[in-house]
Amino acid sequence: MAERARRMRVEVDRDLCEANEVCVAMAPAVFELDDEEELRISSPDVPEGEIERVTQAVASCPRNALLIRE
Ligand code: SF4
Repeated sequence: MAERARRMRVEVDRDLCEANEVCVAMAPAVFELDDEEELRISSPDVPEGEIERVTQAVASCPRNALLIRE
């Protein structure tokens, strides 16, 4: 049987996020700040090659503002 591709979706709780860029530094291909200095998730459906970095960024968010849906 073929192995199922890993899928991960990441979301931000804007009430908790303080835009301190910890996640941006760890996974810049997925997280960025927009012109209003608000966090923007450029790839909410996380590419397989970014899963490790995004997992670490989620665990490192000092506000616990990132949520993973698998
Ligand atoms: S690490 Fe957390 S608080 Fe900081 S910008 Fe990312 S989601 Fe927001």
